[in-house]
Amino acid sequence: MSVPSLKKIAILLPVPFDQTFTYQVPEALTVGRGDYVQVSFGSRTLIGVVWGEAEDVAEEVPAPAGEVITKTRAAYTLKPILKKKDLPPLTDQTRQFIEWVSQYYLSPLGLVLKMVMAEPSVFKERKRKTSKEAPALQPRVPVVLSEAQQHCASFLAERLNGFHTVLLEGATGSGKTEVYLELIKEASDRGKQAVVLLPEIALSAQWVARFERRFGEKPLLWHSDLTSAQRRDNWEKVARGDARVVVGARSALFLPYQDLGLVVVDEEHDGGYKQESGVFYQARDMAVVRASFASCLVVLASATPSLETLVNVEQGRYERCHLGERYAEATFPEVVLVDRREEKGGGVPGSQWISKPLYQEMKETLAAGNQVLLFLNRRGYAPLLLCQACGMRTTCKQCDAWLVYHKSQNKLQCHHCGHGEKPRTVCPGCGAEKSFVPCGPGVERVMEEVTALFPDARPLMMTSDTMTTMKQAEAMISKIENREVDIIVGTQVMAKGHHFPHLTLVGVIDGDLGLGGSDLRLVERTYQLLHQVAGRSGRAEKKGRVLIQSHRGDHPVMCALLVQDPSLFLALEKESREMYGFPPYGRLAAVILSGRQAPEVEKAARALAAVIPRVKDIEVLGPVPAAMSRLKGQYRWRFLVKSPRTLKLQAFLKRWRAAAALPAHIRFQIDVDPYSFF
Ligand SMILES: [Zn+2]
Ligand SMILES: [Zn+2]
Repeated sequence: MSVPSLKKIAILLPVPFDQTFTYQVPEALTVGRGDYVQVSFGSRTLIGVVWGEAEDVAEEVPAPAGEVITKTRAAYTLKPILKKKDLPPLTDQTRQFIEWVSQYYLSPLGLVLKMVMAEPSVFKERKRKTSKEAPALQPRVPVVLSEAQQHCASFLAERLNGFHTVLLEGATGSGKTEVYLELIKEASDRGKQAVVLLPEIALSAQWVARFERRFGEKPLLWHSDLTSAQRRDNWEKVARGDARVVVGARSALFLPYQDLGLVVVDEEHDGGYKQESGVFYQARDMAVVRASFASCLVVLASATPSLETLVNVEQGRYERCHLGERYAEATFPEVVLVDRREEKGGGVPGSQWISKPLYQEMKETLAAGNQVLLFLNRRGYAPLLLCQACGMRTTCKQCDAWLVYHKSQNKLQCHHCGHGEKPRTVCPGCGAEKSFVPCGPGVERVMEEVTALFPDARPLMMTSDTMTTMKQAEAMISKIENREVDIIVGTQVMAKGHHFPHLTLVGVIDGDLGLGGSDLRLVERTYQLLHQVAGRSGRAEKKGRVLIQSHRGDHPVMCALLVQDPSLFLALEKESREMYGFPPYGRLAAVILSGRQAPEVEKAARALAAVIPRVKDIEVLGPVPAAMSRLKGQYRWRFLVKSPRTLKLQAFLKRWRAAAALPAHIRFQIDVDPYSFF
């Protein structure tokens, strides 16, 4: 019997396999690389992407589901492609990007594709609206840039034609956004697409308003808060090249751009760019990779650049342009330290969290008709409840963590797994009644104190609990802008990017929060956060003041803030990272084992330790029970892998993973360039 000569083709499917699958192309169908096609996979029908000729695919391992037909079998046993989708093919650039991300983070290729095919409803059968190409961006009003802005704008525009990474550095309010908006227009004039990443979707409302004022139209939005129909339309517009400017969360980096000409990462230092579920990745770093495949410019903007980026600049991998003078010549706020150790007994009556100097200045600021921000990076009312009779603390059933008391909802909540329960009236430890007292402050508690101390002021609380949608965020921001609010109590949600000219006093309730811990970036983050909060104050013509309450006034972070000299702080921080060989001077990867049974996880960790490949200069620390030894009901053990910067860890990690014969119910996770160490 003769075998019909049909073309075999490799298809990548959005399923957690690190391989392609082989299908046959029916004679009536022509498909090319990058086309979206429908195939049957097991009992399901899936949409996948044509990855190449089947012969091109180097290794094919039979999948557990038995989907892969090995090459020795006759071609006619292959399943056919069912249908080709009417969508522009995935570009080579995007396919290369997917492969790169998969290899670098050791995540299955199919899972990375799934991030690109982010909205399943795109691929459902339906009548398509014909979208039209966006018209060129037209500035509504002529924009006058300062000399420094003009300089940066031309510096960047000169680099639009190829792959360049530039740090756009400038203090809060120096007008970085105006500079890169200019660049977006330039890229759009050249017929290219531009994407702007923001670390927090709550930020996008103000950003969009600004864009609209400038160009009289809205950019295309991409984040999890959109409806499925909006996501479908937006995804398609990007894929068809009809959307010129996209602004969104880190996931916007994975949209199927047709012709990417500019990538902007705003607030590049923000920890929000690190994803720690599914595919673990750092969107700022991947923005640079994506731009290199697209041969385009990537701009990293920040007032407080990350140490990683600063070292990349120093070592010549990235370029830098700097906005020296502040926009509209607003002066930088004055920073004052309030040492709470010296206060003993001399505080404000009825006040636990607001010191006397802060109270005095709040009174004066409000009397002058200005606004006050009290900053505390802790949600809820109190970080835990404590039984006064026996000392028992409220802990999560599933995690090795305290339950945070949210008084407004009368609920105890775990901030790691989301578990919630009602506070108990009887202590389960000793049987005492009504013995639980709140320990330490959260924003709700500070809010309570503010209401008691300033009964006539109009307070507003801004946290991720009160700003769950973009609409709510927008409403709160306009309330502050319209001066319908006198005192704002907020977490870090508040610290990012907003512009409030009448806000002239910032009180940092606990400047020490974040200084005691083992996370290598904790000190850096605390410094950045406090610096940013300070930047909220007095950005227009009014001079601002910042009071930082601290019990550790002699800490280097506090000293650096007081003298307004980041170089002092950065020099110290760099020195200590270099000494320990930590990033950016060395490479790290975390390996996390988890499972339901504590002894089994430990056994697996010990077994894994026994098969660590020996490679010169690669050091493996552990195994140790994770600092958070139980998370969401899973027991956890960790390894930390360390190497010099010149070595790549991926080959080592792959070998190690292959050598480990772990039981199926033990989860093995790799976090390359980790940000969390618990
Ligand atoms: Zn008790
Ligand atoms: Zn929990």
